[in-house]
Amino acid sequence: MDFEFTKEEIMFRDSVKAFLDKEYAPVANERDKKGPFTKDEAIDILKKFKKIGVAFDPESAKELYAEDPMLYGILSEEVGKVWVSLLPVIGMTGLPALFVPLASEETQNRLMPKLEKAELIGCFAETEPEAGCDTSDLKTTARLENDHYTINGAKTWISNATIADVAYVGAKDLSTGLETFFLIEKDISPFDTNELHKIGWNAAPTGEMFFEDCRVTKENEMNIMMGKAFSDPEIMKRLPMSEGMMRLFGQMSPFTALMTLPRCSMGLASLGIAQAAFEASVKYSKERVQFGKPLGKFQLIQEMLYQMNVLIETGRLLAYKAIDAISKGSGEARRLSSMAKIYGGEAAVKVTYNAVQIHGGLGLSDELPLERYYRDARMMTIPDGTSEMMKLITGYTILGKGFSAYT
Ligand SMILES: Cc1cc2nc3c(=O)[nH]c(=O)nc-3n(C[C@H](O)[C@H](O)[C@H](O)COP(=O)(O)OP(=O)(O)OC[C@H]3O[C@@H](n4cnc5c(N)ncnc54)[C@H](O)[C@@H]3O)c2cc1C
Repeated sequence: MDFEFTKEEIMFRDSVKAFLDKEYAPVANERDKKGPFTKDEAIDILKKFKKIGVAFDPESAKELYAEDPMLYGILSEEVGKVWVSLLPVIGMTGLPALFVPLASEETQNRLMPKLEKAELIGCFAETEPEAGCDTSDLKTTARLENDHYTINGAKTWISNATIADVAYVGAKDLSTGLETFFLIEKDISPFDTNELHKIGWNAAPTGEMFFEDCRVTKENEMNIMMGKAFSDPEIMKRLPMSEGMMRLFGQMSPFTALMTLPRCSMGLASLGIAQAAFEASVKYSKERVQFGKPLGKFQLIQEMLYQMNVLIETGRLLAYKAIDAISKGSGEARRLSSMAKIYGGEAAVKVTYNAVQIHGGLGLSDELPLERYYRDARMMTIPDGTSEMMKLITGYTILGKGFSAYT
């Protein structure tokens, strides 16, 4: 077993770290207090990341997701250490990289230049007021009329909703009764949005979306788009998907396969937050003196540091093992990525709790980033699959057919 990153991965990690330390570490705490990024700020973020090679035009996205999926994990962990609110902004913009090359020619002509210039913000909209963990009966509908669909319905808790140019939206196709997805451009098929406020990820926009007779060309429906990719090897080659991911498509639904990497990303971003909180706690334990000794001399403090450290170390091993399984297209990827998501998120909650505790009153103050880490960590157990749903998926993958606890 090899526990080391490759030389290229180390170079990537170091350049992301240096970039984040310079651009965002000095401003994260104060900017985070001001609430969600504006669209201009989000585009500025995308453009800055593009300068270090983290971009979402199909070619760049290929490097990030396909050539070595480990890079996306590394990126997530490093972003988590500095300011996790950046992650939904950049992560959700990966979706257009996947679907714009499959959309209608007009859509491609309009969106590809923006994607190339890092000026296109994406979002993925499935959750609805009545469809949270259970998305088997979406209320958003798509009615086929000649060459277009008409979409009606509402979505909630959607990352980037309020700043997105393009949304990948789940709806029930009334002609088949089946759930499918549509690539919807806001300029061409307008929809309304509303910001939602939450305990953490303060700077990451999250919102509701409302679709009222929203027209979208038939060509931008998922099955038509996927059909295009599978019937034309040239188009397939342009997609940012690893060989491993293609192998996963043969073993599970495309949606399930595609969710494996974001779940590892969430696990690693959580562990990034945890690592930052841990490092601050180690430093503080050496500096803060009570009863004539630094806190670090007290066994109860060492017990907390042990707990924090072991959670981070085990979580990282699990998450990178899960990405390794994705790279290889192993059937283990679904189970491991679900466990990595739960483990990382729950670990971050425990680690940041201890970090606040070690810092005493200062841990609760917004002068330090500890309270932000704590609030941001609390966010990690719900989006992209709650811990409970990840446990049920793990149970199902262990027990096999006939043992799903949720269908
Ligand atoms: C900040 C944020 C960003 C998000 N971004 C997106 C996004 O970009 N796109 C998107 O589509 N969605 C997004 N979501 C939505 C997220 O995926 C849902 O919140 C999540 O799926 C849970 O749905 P819910 O909140 O309706 O909870 P519910 O489904 O109502 O669940 C409530 C509780 O019951 C538990 N539960 C439900 N069913 C079971 C069961 N069978 N067994 C055991 N426990 C169960 C859940 O785990 C949870 O603890 C986001 C959410 C947040 C908070």
